[in-house]
Amino acid sequence: MDSSALFQTYSRAPVEFERGDGCWLQTNEGERFLDFGSGIAVSCLGHAHPHLVKAIQDQAEKLWHVSNLYEISSQGRLAQRLVANSFADRVFFGNSGAEALECAIKTARRYHYVNGAPERYRIITFAGAFHGRTLATLAAAGQEKYLEGYGPRVDGFDQVELGDLEAVKAAITDETAGILLEPIQGEGGIVEPPSGFLRELRKLCDEHGILLVFDEVQTGFGRTGDMFAYKWSGIEPDILAAAKGIGGGFPLGACLATNEASAGMTPSTHATTYGGNLLAMAAGNAVLDIILQDGFFEDVQRRSLIFKQGLASVVDRFPDVFSEVRGKGFLLGLKCVLPNMDVNSALRDANLLTVPAGDNVIRLLPPLVVSEEEMSQAIERIENAAAALSATQPGDGAA
Ligand code: PLP
Repeated sequence: MDSSALFQTYSRAPVEFERGDGCWLQTNEGERFLDFGSGIAVSCLGHAHPHLVKAIQDQAEKLWHVSNLYEISSQGRLAQRLVANSFADRVFFGNSGAEALECAIKTARRYHYVNGAPERYRIITFAGAFHGRTLATLAAAGQEKYLEGYGPRVDGFDQVELGDLEAVKAAITDETAGILLEPIQGEGGIVEPPSGFLRELRKLCDEHGILLVFDEVQTGFGRTGDMFAYKWSGIEPDILAAAKGIGGGFPLGACLATNEASAGMTPSTHATTYGGNLLAMAAGNAVLDIILQDGFFEDVQRRSLIFKQGLASVVDRFPDVFSEVRGKGFLLGLKCVLPNMDVNSALRDANLLTVPAGDNVIRLLPPLVVSEEEMSQAIERIENAAAALSATQPGDGAA
């Protein structure tokens, strides 16, 4: 492609896709790739899912966009369905993960403001986090490499090590508004907090009258085998940011909150032109039609367990390429011994798409509808790539 007129912000792989079906992507020349990246955990129903295609087509023929100056009943309907399937009472729709996080942060700050404590605006976050690329979400995640050159950091975030409860306690002050984290860190390398940590955070929030905010942009909408990853923890947040899978590939984000936590979000305090647009609502409702079907999440759990076992066996057989398989549901990571970018390229050469992450991990994030046959093909491709990589290493190669 001629990228000379684009900002040079991305390092793209030298491949372009023309069409997709299910878990497969196809180039202009007809070469097919097994997509175990889902556009970074987005295409939860795979590509060109007939129900999603029809929902978008039907809506596209009627009306695309009117703005939030007018009523949009599909917005009300999607919100009701999200509320019925989560801890939340209310929803605000935006267009991306970072926007969902901005709304979550604003909601937490406004909660204290309307409760007579405007000095409570700081949020505790965790090392290794990723919350988006806006100025506030970059400050929240605190990754120096992404903050460099962007001027003074947005104030109001205090970062501690993931899993360090004593550090969290020490960081809570009279200015603290809440605690924000991903139930499983995605970009950070599929990192789960220690068992019981989320429960302890819930307790601390209740003791101090502060809000627990989950970033489920990557973990939500069935990715871990349930509607949201927090459902595995036995506790509920006060606010949750969602995006990616929610639109099945159509840009959509949402901030969910309890009545109490969203009390400060009164008329004119927050808005967006596109958020909750008719096409996005058609996509969001269509995704829910499928993932809320009886047995869908159980089937994700069943298939993902088989896949994880297959990956564990690859790790056992190629210890000079991989050291560990981690994650839950179809949010899986292979920790690499060799540089993860090399492994990612080798897999792409084997026509299997994966996504690199922090901590030298490659992520395997297939569409939630992936079949057992497709999982077997992916395992075979990983094995072949591992065998080839292993053979290039000094010393005795693996089996
Ligand atoms: N939060 C998490 C956990 C993410 O993984 C991402 C994106 O990868 C974001 C927020 C930002 O989402 P977006 O890129 O849609 O702004």
